[in-house]
Amino acid sequence: PINEMNLEFSSKSRNESFARVVAAAFVSQLDPTLEELADVKTAVSEAVTNAIIHGYENRDGLVKMNCKLYNNSVEITISDEGKGIENISLARQPMYTSRPDMERSGMGFTVMESFMDKIEVVSELGKGTKVTMFK
Ligand code: ATP
Ligand code: MG
Repeated sequence: PINEMNLEFSSKSRNESFARVVAAAFVSQLDPTLEELADVKTAVSEAVTNAIIHGYENRDGLVKMNCKLYNNSVEITISDEGKGIENISLARQPMYTSRPDMERSGMGFTVMESFMDKIEVVSELGKGTKVTMFK
């Protein structure tokens, strides 16, 4: 990478907008279009929200964000050390949610996939989840 940053913050929903703004500010160095910047913010928001509400189930924990910049691309990883995902391919299906009771629509991963070029999900039950997004 030509530049890299790491951020660590508490799993509180008020930090969703913080993480989104930090990611956008860092990525701005590459002179993205407003649309590209908005896409990155939306994707970061979805991944951070998932870490807080699903990974840590709104309990205390640390969410990490790593952002790598290349000449013409970015790689952003959001990770948690929360409960993990049992079935990743099921979790990634449009409209699948494990929390219909919370009125989630199950579209977070689908949004990340459509606003970024590619996403990779690595997760282990009881250990946590790592979502890497490329654009
Ligand atoms: P929405 O994002 O539309 O509000 P959602 O969060 O349920 O709803 P997705 O973001 O697509 O939908 O996630 C699908 C499912 O994957 C979640 O319901 C949850 O079971 C699981 N999941 C996603 N991220 C994590 C995570 N960081 N830790 C544990 N489980 C996760
Ligand atoms: Mg979600």
